[in-house]
Amino acid sequence: MAPHNQSNTIDFDAAKLQRLGYASRAQKTLKPVSLAQLRQQLSLQLQTSLETERILELFFDAVQRLVPLSALSYQLASCDLRLDLGERANHSAGYRLNHEGEYLGELTFRRSYRFSEDELGQLESLLASLLFPLRNALLYRTALQTALRDPLTETGNRVAMTQTLQREVDMARRNLQPLSVLMVDIDHFKQINDQHGHSIGDEALKAVANALKDSLRNVDMVFRYGGEEFLVLLSNTSREAASIVGERLRMAVMGIQYLVEHRTIDLSISLGCASLLPGESMESLLRRADSALYVSKREGRNRLSMAG
Ligand code: GH3
Ligand code: MG
Ligand code: MG
Repeated sequence: MAPHNQSNTIDFDAAKLQRLGYASRAQKTLKPVSLAQLRQQLSLQLQTSLETERILELFFDAVQRLVPLSALSYQLASCDLRLDLGERANHSAGYRLNHEGEYLGELTFRRSYRFSEDELGQLESLLASLLFPLRNALLYRTALQTALRDPLTETGNRVAMTQTLQREVDMARRNLQPLSVLMVDIDHFKQINDQHGHSIGDEALKAVANALKDSLRNVDMVFRYGGEEFLVLLSNTSREAASIVGERLRMAVMGIQYLVEHRTIDLSISLGCASLLPGESMESLLRRADSALYVSKREGRNRLSMAG
């Protein structure tokens, strides 16, 4: 019992130090360990996080106590994940990670000289401790992403929108930066459903969402606000710049060649643009963008109106 408690204590301190950013210093002061000890410590340490990046950092630091490494890289294309830790070097040992038949990505250890057979055996043994925590972290990541996404259009959902917009409003206020939003609504969308059916309507909705996403920079964010309405969040963007972006989006949607039975369906959007006023709340900003959108609808659709 006593040795077990001892190793728990060491683990806890090391994890705490690493969280405080003293990883390399803490490492130098740690005593050499055996493979069995390290595996035991590692499995405890890896339980302290559900974040993929953090788990791989902890793993990288721990492995180096037994096998000298200069870099570790990890990638899982299906999750758009790529992580490079340390400094790249010539010699590498790469592993495809599988857990109960499930592909968990590819991990590569690197350094400037060859890995011995013994070391490869040690790396493989330590990798076994990584699989379960890594799989949990990937599941957690997917769950978080699913909770914030609209599955049909692959844009952010209302929950994501409220969270992100509130954060951006706070940040814009603190940094005295401009912030603009575009409320977007597809014109006569009900007709598309009525004429071609709901599933063609869904496809058209996806096509519009893709046109919006493709016309924006990464930092701009698109959310599905309601049925066929989207909100585009433009951080650090003035009223003038936002109106240019809005026009670009309108043109992009007009340019969609959406074919149904060899005939193109005409798609257009109406937009309302509002920029954050000093001291304004998120709700008020959205309300003003919505009123501007209403003006666009009233004045004939397929146009952009600026909130007063
Ligand atoms: P307006 O130009 O005034 O915006 O006209 P509209 O027909 O687009 O507006 P309205 O609000 O009357 O109709 C919106 C339609 O969008 C009605 C609803 O059935 C449809 N819709 C909402 N969500 C979805 C969806 O997820 N898929 C499909 N196919 N249709 C949807
Ligand atoms: Mg509409
Ligand atoms: Mg609508």
